[in-house]
Amino acid sequence: MNASIRASVKLLKEKDIRPSVQRIRVLEYLQNSKNHPTVDNIYNYLVNEIPTLSKTTVYNILKLFSEKNVTSTVRIGTNEARYDADTSVHGHFKCEKCGNIYDFNVNIEELKLTGLDKFKINEHHIYLKGICKNCKIEEE
Ligand SMILES: [Zn+2]
Ligand SMILES: [Zn+2]
Repeated sequence: MNASIRASVKLLKEKDIRPSVQRIRVLEYLQNSKNHPTVDNIYNYLVNEIPTLSKTTVYNILKLFSEKNVTSTVRIGTNEARYDADTSVHGHFKCEKCGNIYDFNVNIEELKLTGLDKFKINEHHIYLKGICKNCKIEEE
């Protein structure tokens, strides 16, 4: 077992998830790809290696991972869900031109929110849309 597989197995066990080969590979793929893949992206990549894999299986694995807080689900504008192995608080920027989703850091403590006195916040999602640096350079 290589270090990356060992780390994935450990994480799954910590979260009370049985570390099946499929779950380990989905988790590894998410950790290695920082581009917030869709179910289709993950399926298309892994099906060559695991021919018995189905899209439903990938979907169910991601659902389980979200419930156990192993990964987080990102939804921006469209109904298409994208998945993220980074569960820490961070913002997402979606480029309207190339469709890429970029991570950026957010300091929640310094964010000024008004009108929510006595509210309890359970989740933070910070989404921005626009044109990314690469596409902007192309435009100019
Ligand atoms: Zn772009
Ligand atoms: Zn992210």
